Amino acid sequence: MPVGEPAPPPERGSGLHGALEEFTARWEPAFSSSTGPRYLGFVTGGTTPAALAGDWLAAAWDQNPMNSLDPGGPLLERETLSWLRALFGLTDAHHGVFVSGATMSNTTGLAVAREWLGERAGVCVAEDGAAALGPVRVLSGAAHSSVAKALSLLGLGRGALVRVETLPGREAVDPAALESALREAEEAGAGCVVVANLGTVDTADFDELRALLALRERYRFWLHADAAFGAFAALSPRHAHLVTGGGGLDAADSVCVDLHKWLNVPYDSAVLFTRRPDLQAAVFRNAAAYLGPLGENPDGVHLTPENSRRLRALAAWFTLRAYGREGHREIVERCVACAHRLGAAVEALPGLRLLAPVRLNVVCFTLARDATGERLARLAEALADEVFLTPTVHAGTPALRAAFSNWRTTEADADRVAAALAHALHSL
Ligand SMILES: *Cc1c(COP(=O)(O)O)cnc(C)c1O
Repeated sequence: MPVGEPAPPPERGSGLHGALEEFTARWEPAFSSSTGPRYLGFVTGGTTPAALAGDWLAAAWDQNPMNSLDPGGPLLERETLSWLRALFGLTDAHHGVFVSGATMSNTTGLAVAREWLGERAGVCVAEDGAAALGPVRVLSGAAHSSVAKALSLLGLGRGALVRVETLPGREAVDPAALESALREAEEAGAGCVVVANLGTVDTADFDELRALLALRERYRFWLHADAAFGAFAALSPRHAHLVTGGGGLDAADSVCVDLHKWLNVPYDSAVLFTRRPDLQAAVFRNAAAYLGPLGENPDGVHLTPENSRRLRALAAWFTLRAYGREGHREIVERCVACAHRLGAAVEALPGLRLLAPVRLNVVCFTLARDATGERLARLAEALADEVFLTPTVHAGTPALRAAFSNWRTTEADADRVAAALAHALHSL
């Protein structure tokens, strides 16, 4: 059977060893080295040894942490969430839940926001549906694509997303433009949600949180912070101000953080924090006689889109326990140092041009001349044995990005990528 071709359904089993042999022969060759140190596409991250151990144990113990009638899993989640809160500078005013990724975290946060808009309008969206709400505007600068997807799923519609101007040459929202958009929305009688982008995918830019929080003194809106990978800036003393300014993430109404990116736990893992778990329970409650009453502290089953789910907290617990804040800070700082090193090398190469200064862990660059998508694809292809990069179009210019978030990446890897780039430019 060629790699990737679907085989017919197995009638007789080949045993575990047989399955492993076939997997190794047919499927391993088709898999990318996404846990490797030079897989710099998307914002990927790898798997620390401790996280991998935790994930294996999550599968082996096969706990379902949805319900405290079986309390071990939920208690371990609670401990892990408190460690994560401490990592990101959140207080226990924020209640956290585990979900499968930042898309689901954004969706969950925006579902709570939708319920809050209902509360303000004197309706219950969970009971009466999104149609009970008047007009809604979700204002954001360079929102991640998952926000539009979430709005589609939540019945608010992709059209509810209003793109607010960003600062010149930046992906950070222009606070003055945001203020105008809020004023306009208020005049139109629309309920407002603001999505703050803390770590944009193309250039790792950050909305100025302090300015957004200040707008709350004059306008009423739900502030959802998409800090999928940007929250990890909190671990670096030099960059923490990006997520701690003016009350920081803790002042947001809901906060999305991915764990399968910069925490380096395996897929699929993310968290959503919110100050309004009561509204969250209104949305996600799953009332059934055998699950017991909702109570003061609702179980996970009443707070997340899933009912049954795996104990994905265990991988995060293991890596935090094994390496501590110190170990994870070292990973973050090393990734940032690698990005700066590659950024400097790109600047020094006459054939390339940085499209934005390296702000954190992403290097966004293009060809100095004839920067077509096709030529960039050829460049990425020529590099494929050494490094995996993903394409983008930044401010209308086709580009490549290198995102550093893997615990294994070192400055020697950054140098190898730089050398490969220099070499590949010659043959372009
Ligand atoms: C990666 C990312 C997401 C989506 O995350 P998934 O884990 O793919 O669901 C959302 N927002 C930002 C800023 C991201 O970087």
